[in-house]
Amino acid sequence: MQTKVLLIYTGGTIGMNCNPRTKALEPFDFEHLLSNVPELNQFDTEISTYQFLPPIDSSDMSPMRWTDLSHVIADNYDNYDGFVVLHGTDTMAYTASALSYMLENLTKPVIFTGSQLPIGQLRTDGKENLITSIEIAAAKNQDGTAIVPEVGIYFNGHLLRGNRTTKQSADGFNAFESFNYPHLVEAGVNITYHKEMIRKPDFSKPMTPHFKLDNNVIIFSLFPGVREDLIRHIIATPNLKSIVMRTFGSGNAPQNPWLISALKEGTRKGKVIINISQCLEGRVEMGRYDTGYQLKEAGVVSGFDSTVESAVTKLMFLQSQYDDPEQIRRYMQRSIRGEITV
Ligand code: ASP
Repeated sequence: MQTKVLLIYTGGTIGMNCNPRTKALEPFDFEHLLSNVPELNQFDTEISTYQFLPPIDSSDMSPMRWTDLSHVIADNYDNYDGFVVLHGTDTMAYTASALSYMLENLTKPVIFTGSQLPIGQLRTDGKENLITSIEIAAAKNQDGTAIVPEVGIYFNGHLLRGNRTTKQSADGFNAFESFNYPHLVEAGVNITYHKEMIRKPDFSKPMTPHFKLDNNVIIFSLFPGVREDLIRHIIATPNLKSIVMRTFGSGNAPQNPWLISALKEGTRKGKVIINISQCLEGRVEMGRYDTGYQLKEAGVVSGFDSTVESAVTKLMFLQSQYDDPEQIRRYMQRSIRGEITV
């Protein structure tokens, strides 16, 4: 049987065009995108398309659209072997992380890609990104199972685990990196699948989609000089359920007594506070320095080697599933989709 891939276009530079009046890039019609890649007709794979209307710049992504995207994948799941999602690069790592949580026991590839230059431009990176993403989404093992049953981001020759990835460059072609996890696939002259790094779902069980997210969460960064009144204000926000706190180095914070007491107060009131390092590479170890140990004492939970994008979307997902903050703290310290190394 012919392999089938559903190409979902949400928007982003890959399908944008220059507005002659404002000179700004704006989303364009999907047909335009396809007419610029006649190579798609050469695939053995049958490619169908689905377009979000209107296509958006990914800065306008939202939990509501993540839910829409989960619905599109869930509704078409049985009819396709894999999915390629064209998405703006700006928030691609957030969407890929969110989808990794929303699609439980994923047995088929969901490959996100996009480009830094529109597909109609001569030097575009969009063509290779799109073509190789389709190839990866269609790739199967000899037993017919998908080689990459994961939510991944394909860009500039690498496939990265979605919930391990961060946008690292605003204008280079190598826009993404997964600093704390090896690449899943390298695409050079040949496509090399690092199978030992790729997740293995239970192929005998169905994929379970989830459609709810609870975005009562905030991300804040510590910095020398951070003010008590502002931090206390955030922590006292009534409906706020969790905080992704970006700390220094291996998870350290200033030793001001007010900060520790404010965090303790937050924990006591049931807020889940996750410690994520401002460093791109490495992990949080709260016991390493006294400045980190105090956070542990205040009930702050280690985010290990999580990306910010993954932590914030995992909290949105868990908060939609569980009411008990202790339960959420427990799941935050466990890898549920390969997002952290504990
Ligand atoms: N602003 C664009 C977006 O994220 C950038 C891109 O697609 O690369 O939608």
